[in-house]
Amino acid sequence: MTGGDRLDFELHPNANPVPAAERSALLSSPGFGRIFTDHMVTIRWAESKGWYDARVEARAPIPLDPAAAVLHYAQEIFEGLKAYQGSDGSVTMFRPDANARRFRESARRMAMPELPDELFLRSLEELVRVDREWIPQGAETSLYLRPFMFASEVFLGVRPAMEYLYCAIASPAGAYFAGGVKPLTLWASEHYTRAAPGGTGAAKCGGNYAASLASQAEAIEHGCDQVIFLDAVERKYIDELGGMNVFFVFDDGSIVTPPLTGSILPGITRDALITLAREKGHEVREEQYALAQWREDAASGRLREAFACGTAAVITPIGVVRSPAGEIVVADGSTGAVTQGLRDTLVAIQRGDAPDPHGWVRRLA
Ligand SMILES: *Cc1c(COP(=O)(O)O)cnc(C)c1O
Repeated sequence: MTGGDRLDFELHPNANPVPAAERSALLSSPGFGRIFTDHMVTIRWAESKGWYDARVEARAPIPLDPAAAVLHYAQEIFEGLKAYQGSDGSVTMFRPDANARRFRESARRMAMPELPDELFLRSLEELVRVDREWIPQGAETSLYLRPFMFASEVFLGVRPAMEYLYCAIASPAGAYFAGGVKPLTLWASEHYTRAAPGGTGAAKCGGNYAASLASQAEAIEHGCDQVIFLDAVERKYIDELGGMNVFFVFDDGSIVTPPLTGSILPGITRDALITLAREKGHEVREEQYALAQWREDAASGRLREAFACGTAAVITPIGVVRSPAGEIVVADGSTGAVTQGLRDTLVAIQRGDAPDPHGWVRRLA
């Protein structure tokens, strides 16, 4: 791994931070992804130098040359995780080491340099420490952290860039479901897919999201909340939602989730839920599940619950799936007991309200 492990962050405090009263007003109803803290972290990489110039500084626009490689060929990756403030005042993050590893794996897929895990983790700790006052207090609130990296080299040739900017910003987040957890209505698209075998489906890159927006618009046209993608080869098996992984709960207590074959994103929430479900005594199988099977199992009553999961919303029940072939209603379309139980267990661990036997919670020193 390239150097940088001993890189020190230079602190340049924001000279004009948001006044405390204004900050409190913003934090009383933060929503999601709308408001941002006073600072950001940046680290640069150049082919000739490796990682250098690590800074904590005022959050501000980033000057970008119009020929910056990212604007043309989309070498960009990101992560998303949350920092929480416990009732005892301690600040924690949930499995940030897993995000660090996934960030490196995404970088490798996009032919970008791999930020050492230690630097990734330290960058987030520096940011959370300097903007600690921005962590909202209250049930289901958090400080959402968004590390990302892009090709900043000024060059229009097609090859991996030789200069990159890593950056992390933070955004206070309110309860995802203000009026309580509400089951999703999904649209199963027949002509758009998200990721093909050998493609970038397992990398957390902005390009995957750009490619999903037209199908998301189609979902909304059909009165649905989000799109659920089918596999790109047979257009038969469930992949994921394009930002959340999917689970199915059956009448015998067993649980199925699509396997990590390279076309879905290996969610950290997904991974934690597989572990927690097994601890609760459920058999969990990572296997393909066809939309036609879903229709059959919903009709016969074998399928009891379905839910989507990811960092932002944790777990969201799936109530209805629409497709040109008709509508599938999962059980009675409301939140199932297994879904609710898994959600409660995971949220309690994340917030420090339950023991953490797997060492998933990292405390800010
Ligand atoms: C981030 C993401 C997820 C969820 O991953 P978590 O680590 O659980 O937040 C699922 N699918 C896609 C495409 C994603 O980008």
